[in-house]
Amino acid sequence: MNLSASNEILIDRSSDVAEKRTDVHRNNRSLYSRKDFQPGEIIAEFGWDKVHSTPNYLTVQISEHEHIELLPSYLECINHSCDPNCFFDTSNKVLEALKSIGNGEELTFFYPSAEWDMDQSFQCHCGSEQCIGIIRGAKYLPESLHTKYRFTDFIQSKLASRH
Ligand SMILES: [Zn+2]
Repeated sequence: MNLSASNEILIDRSSDVAEKRTDVHRNNRSLYSRKDFQPGEIIAEFGWDKVHSTPNYLTVQISEHEHIELLPSYLECINHSCDPNCFFDTSNKVLEALKSIGNGEELTFFYPSAEWDMDQSFQCHCGSEQCIGIIRGAKYLPESLHTKYRFTDFIQSKLASRH
């Protein structure tokens, strides 16, 4: 563990891919890249140990009733954005860059890209011009957004079955 604290942010650099920042007072965690990535590049491979039958705020959905706890676990600190720079490809078990990501940039993904019906919805404050507001899972996305974002194979099959 390589920990250092600056102001009230606890920084964990135990991974050479990304650093985990914990805002001690607000109890927020986030993940920042430690490298440059090109669109399509693999940021990290992942697997899982525990699988849950229902989602929680840390899990990633891989099938109808399978919600995984990510390994390496620092990946669970990636926050949501409506203008994401990475994507969890749950079929190939890789975190992929969707756009150019610079060293020191926060990693974000679009939660509904992997989540059908989330446990806890929330009001997004990502600040993106394309912010869609309340985030509840792919099930609730208007059809106009079905082609705008990249989704996991599982979510794509769920969306396709409704057309
Ligand atoms: Zn947003």
